[in-house]
Formats: sequence, C-alpha cells, structure tokens
Amino acid sequence: MDINLNFIIDKNFLAYIILLSEFADKTLANKTKNLILNVCKNSEYHEQRLFLIDEAFLKCAHNLTNLMKLLYSNKMGVLYNIMDSNIFNKIYRETVKNKVRVAHNWNIHKKEIIRELSQILKFNNFNTLPINVYCVHPSLNYACTINGEFIIYGSSRGLNEAHFDNCILVHEFLHTIFKYDDLRYEKNYDMVHAIIELISDGRLYQQLNMAENVLGGHNYLIKYRKHLIPLFNEYLSSPNTNINEFIDSCLKNETLHKKIVLETVKEGLIDLKKTSNSLDNSKAKKLVK
Ligand SMILES: [Zn+2]
Repeated sequence: MDINLNFIIDKNFLAYIILLSEFADKTLANKTKNLILNVCKNSEYHEQRLFLIDEAFLKCAHNLTNLMKLLYSNKMGVLYNIMDSNIFNKIYRETVKNKVRVAHNWNIHKKEIIRELSQILKFNNFNTLPINVYCVHPSLNYACTINGEFIIYGSSRGLNEAHFDNCILVHEFLHTIFKYDDLRYEKNYDMVHAIIELISDGRLYQQLNMAENVLGGHNYLIKYRKHLIPLFNEYLSSPNTNINEFIDSCLKNETLHKKIVLETVKEGLIDLKKTSNSLDNSKAKKLVK
C-alpha cells in the first residue's frame, strides 16, 4: 500500500497564500506585509484581495479546478502584481529549495512512515490516489487540507525538527481519509480531528523519532486530547479494534462526551471570571485616576 503525495509548486497558488500570510513568521512577515500593502494601494487590487481572502471564496471555489480557474483568471491582477515583484521571486526560489528537501525527506522515509501508520490505524488499505501537495514557503507556516482533496504545506518548524514535515503531511493526509463532511462524524469533527492529532502528531511522531515527546496540536482540541489519551492508549494495545471502530466508539461514548462538555463549561466559567476580573481592573484604574 502506498500514500501517493505529489509535491508541486504553483506560482499563482503561492501568490494567493502570500495574500493570506497572517501566519508568516518574522523572517517573512514584514516583507510580505510590505509587498501586499504596496500592491493593494490600488483600490481594485485591494478589492480583489478582500474577495480572495474571504472564506466565502474558498466555499465558492469548492473544488480545485474552480479554485485554479479563479487563481489563473486574468481578472486577478492582484496575484500577477505580487508575482511580478523581486520579493516574490526570492520567495519562489526558496520555496523550490524547501520543496526538494520536504519531498526528499518524505520519499526516503515513506516505507517506514507507512509501516508505522498501518500499525496505528490497524489497516493499510489507504486511498492510494495521488494527492497534490501545494508547497509554499516554510515561513508562511501553512498546513491545511481543502475539502479532503488537496494539501497546502510549508512550515519553518520542519527545517529544524526531525520528522516534523512527515508527521504534519500524514496529519493532512488523514484529513483526506477521515473527511470533514463525512456524515458519520456529523457535528463532532473536533473529536475526529483530536484523534487525527493523537495518530500523527502523537504516536507516529514518537515512533519515527523514537522519543517520548509529541507535537503540540491545536489549543482548542486540548480538552479532547486530554480525555482521549487513555482511551487511545488502550486502543493501541488492543489487537482487535481498528481505527474506524475506535473513532465510532469515541463518537458514541456518552461518558467521554460528558467529560468534554464539562471542560467546555469550565472554560466558559474561566472566561467569565477573566472578563469580570478585567472589568474590576478597569474600575480600579478609574478609581486611581
Ligand atoms: Zn488538522
């Protein structure tokens, strides 16, 4: 069995992600900020940027073909102006270099990754259709899967941490197997997402690095991971349950749901407390004045 990742760089796509570069780290943030500010001085381009970064845009571009049509449309002058700049050329060259590194690391470890992943999922009949990975500059810090169809990836942590790229690529790949819009997961994709984290950012990362530590996942999923970890460890040592059965059992687990709801209520109370404290502080400040 295989995981068939097709690493590509598309200039229009890279320019598009630069327009969304709010997660860019320091080495790139100022450059992209200035580039965007310069190009978007033109009010027409400013409007185009707003359209492109709007979530509605991704919804209307509900598949890759539609998205690419939009990104390649002659009307999208904002992208062509970004691509015309010297900074873009530098970003592009560095993206090419990083793509070669990420793809090489993936390919030399692929067998090992698939072997470990099969042991965690307890099946190995993965979807072997090629999945496009649109590589972006590592400093853009972007990792996501659109509609379970294609992956966007580039992270600066991958430059320094062994198997970081590989584990995040597996994480994104898992979003193409356990899809957001799968009716089985209904309104509880957060639970599935936390399980994806335990698989790729947790167990797989530990196995590949032969280490105890794991990658920190999304903050908003901490409460899920906290209560899922004991169940997941139990699952790993039980030979007769595969990952699909494990996900189903978690989704049906009333006690687990109650624990997570309780955490959510606690968070709400803490938030309320924070708000009332800050209100008290502002009152105190007024009094001091
Ligand atoms: Zn994810």
